[in-house]
Amino acid sequence: VVQFSGVTKTYNAGRANSYTAIRDVNFVIEDLPDKGEFVCVLGPSGCGKSTILRLVAGLEPQHPPTEGRVLVLGRPVTGPGADRGMVFQDYTSFDHRTVLENIAFGLECRGVPKRERLDRAMVWLGKVGLSPKKDADKYPSELSGGMRQRVAIARTLILEPKIILMDEPFGALDPPTRARMQDLLIELWREQSPTVFFITHSIEEAVYLGD
Ligand code: ADP
Repeated sequence: VVQFSGVTKTYNAGRANSYTAIRDVNFVIEDLPDKGEFVCVLGPSGCGKSTILRLVAGLEPQHPPTEGRVLVLGRPVTGPGADRGMVFQDYTSFDHRTVLENIAFGLECRGVPKRERLDRAMVWLGKVGLSPKKDADKYPSELSGGMRQRVAIARTLILEPKIILMDEPFGALDPPTRARMQDLLIELWREQSPTVFFITHSIEEAVYLGD
């Protein structure tokens, strides 16, 4: 599913402020039939976790690597793609769109007709534990942090990406909310079985979630 071969990333290469964040990273996430792995990347702040995740995502300036090769589904990464979905720590919903419209956004980009995409978004709204009646028409500013991350997860999973990239998605949540979100994520992962790349600096979280 994902392969790193001798991957090195030097930011600002060739300049006075050049900095090598990761050096010669090698790993393989096997493609198992009908089962995605739940991979946790664990380490202290600044050790290069986001650099690795964003290289998988194909996001600049991490992409392209300075040296080595990043393969996703057997092909070199050339940029972002629909096979990979990303959930960030910061709340990334569109402020001017309702919860339902935010969840339906990716389907809209894909040209799915309005009725169908809103129906599908409503199903996902329920799956992530939001209330179709009470929450669908709210705007992000009216939601708690946990609810916003539920929207972010629904918005990503509705597109059924093969690989889900999560950069400390629960880092800003209080401990009880965080625990509930971890359980929700496991539940959804069992249902869809994507490969999940989950970044955290919490040992407990990595042990609890990771394969
Ligand atoms: P982590 O996710 O483990 O906290 P990062 O991958 O974000 O670590 O960062 C690894 C190192 O690379 C850090 O020292 C950070 O300051 C540096 N770094 C990250 N992004 C950039 C960038 N765009 N330009 C220069 N240095 C960067």
